[in-house]
Amino acid sequence: MRAMVLHERAPIETSPLRLEEMELPVAGPRDLFLRVRACGICRTDLHVIEGELEPERTPLIPGHQVVGTVEGVGNECTRFRVGDRVGVAWLRGTCGKCESCRRGRENLCEQSRYTGHHEHGGYAEFAVVREDFAYAIPEVFSDIEAAPLLCAGIIGYRALSLAEVPDAGTLALYGFGSSAHIVLQVALHRGCKVLVATRGDRHRELALRLGASWAGGALDELPEPADSAIVFAPAGEIVPAALRSVKKSGTVALAGIYMTPVPEMDYERHLFHEKKLRSVEANTRADGEGLLAEAAEIPIRAETTTFALEQANEALIRLQNDGINGSGVLAL
Ligand SMILES: [Zn+2]
Ligand SMILES: [Zn+2]
Repeated sequence: MRAMVLHERAPIETSPLRLEEMELPVAGPRDLFLRVRACGICRTDLHVIEGELEPERTPLIPGHQVVGTVEGVGNECTRFRVGDRVGVAWLRGTCGKCESCRRGRENLCEQSRYTGHHEHGGYAEFAVVREDFAYAIPEVFSDIEAAPLLCAGIIGYRALSLAEVPDAGTLALYGFGSSAHIVLQVALHRGCKVLVATRGDRHRELALRLGASWAGGALDELPEPADSAIVFAPAGEIVPAALRSVKKSGTVALAGIYMTPVPEMDYERHLFHEKKLRSVEANTRADGEGLLAEAAEIPIRAETTTFALEQANEALIRLQNDGINGSGVLAL
């Protein structure tokens, strides 16, 4: 099969992914064998390729927002059949036994495994996934539309829950990429008012077009205090600004897997008045099911730019340079 393969971590400008012919993946008794139809690109792919997150194997096929058609099922599979359409997300395996798993926090499993990091992902014509970590894709979405929901959507959804925005409250989003433009649609559907602080005129225009009440620069002061904020931009200097922007007892959730150093903060200005700061790590399967159900009900419309499989380097370079509005998706 054709795949875009990483052999050694390197800056994305050097186009480190190579189009190669790879062996077909082998499905075990509890696995689904998928023909990939679409795979979203994600900032985490950049972190894996460039080495902020050390790839757990090389050669590696990146990509963790995979929409595929089931072409084979292992003999112990019961949930899906040949011809079904399923999604594969970042979380692809947990131990089921550690304290986190037992307490319903499988996103924090000590032995969790990730798609396109520990195992091959979706920048390829075929992929395998454990059946119990696959998601049914609601019919209302095309393959391309569904792909960004599988990480941008799911992580955004978890960040939105952890941000604890009250009913009809005001939510600030810092950074406006793939995840934020989906979260904005969920938050509006829940009756929230959304303020967006981001660099890039095109991102601000998209935010306003999708229904944000205000869109300004990444470090601009908000027109009013927010109840909660989510920081999507991987830039540590935004954290104190976000904490200043929330009301007393407000929550700031950090949605990224990587962030540049956070500057020194002042207790009185940034943290006092019971303000809460928390990070978001991966997702549980319940987050994935919850997001897909709510996304189908709204329905969420991801703004997508599509690329061919062999254009994965170019697509990621554009993502790096803030050149994609909404979500980038490889269409196979
Ligand atoms: Zn575990
Ligand atoms: Zn991702």
